[in-house]
Amino acid sequence: MSDDVTRTRDEIAGVAAEALRHLLWLRDAGVREIAPPAAALRGGDARADGGPVGRREGEGAAVRGVGTSASTPTANPTPTPTATATPTATSPQTATAPATSEKGCGSPALAAIREALGPCTRCRLAAGRTHLVFGVGNPRAELMFVGEGPGADEDRQGEPFVGRAGQLLTKMIEAMGFRREEVYIANIVKCRPPENRNPEPDEMDACEPFLRRQIAAVQPRVVVALGKIAAQRLLADPTPISRLRGRWAEVDGVRIMPTFHPAYLLRSPEEKKKAWEDLQLVMKELGRAPRR
Ligand code: SF4
Repeated sequence: MSDDVTRTRDEIAGVAAEALRHLLWLRDAGVREIAPPAAALRGGDARADGGPVGRREGEGAAVRGVGTSASTPTANPTPTPTATATPTATSPQTATAPATSEKGCGSPALAAIREALGPCTRCRLAAGRTHLVFGVGNPRAELMFVGEGPGADEDRQGEPFVGRAGQLLTKMIEAMGFRREEVYIANIVKCRPPENRNPEPDEMDACEPFLRRQIAAVQPRVVVALGKIAAQRLLADPTPISRLRGRWAEVDGVRIMPTFHPAYLLRSPEEKKKAWEDLQLVMKELGRAPRR
């Protein structure tokens, strides 16, 4: 057998194994049916029934002035940064050239926020970072995810949610019928806390205004707050995440859905079902309710 044939066979086996892992994850999450991408069938909106998500722990202050109209949330088009991406019907792809080459700066407004941050030393977290992790994704996403802060992988790569928890988040996003490139992802703090500790209140106070400006620039219809830190901070509400999750909140016209952090779900997979219930509420809000 030639090397090419062997390599192709190994690649197919790898894809099949990855597909199996994803299906098992969905099953564990309590998903019983997966709708095929509608675009493939009738040119409609692509969606899928997916698995639950997770969260981490968090804490709180206020995300005020996120800057969108309270009365008329905007259904944002969702340009994709990759020219080869396949558009979906619910998210027209009107690719916009990034204002800068840096991740998460795909519009002039976002680029201006990044420029305002500069080589930030506004809090002690600057001392330990490799990369300032600004954000990533569609600058006009209708759906945004906010976590608490970068971990080791994110600090190394300069992109939020790229480690194991990030891989789970990507699966959650895909289970909701989105591609990762269609949403926007950011954190409360943009530099990695040492030893992956929770960010301190003064660190969040220093960094959060820039997140608020990012939310105002992106104007998502829904922000999913991942974990205790993000949820409590965004909502200025110290209620435990176990009671915040699954309940809609609204800050300055932006609908916010708290749910578990993917890192927490990795540790507590039995909670995936609850997280998936939370995401189903988001899908319904965005007109992507899963089929029954
Ligand atoms: Fe600046 Fe935010 Fe990093 Fe602190 S965490 S140094 S405020 S970018």
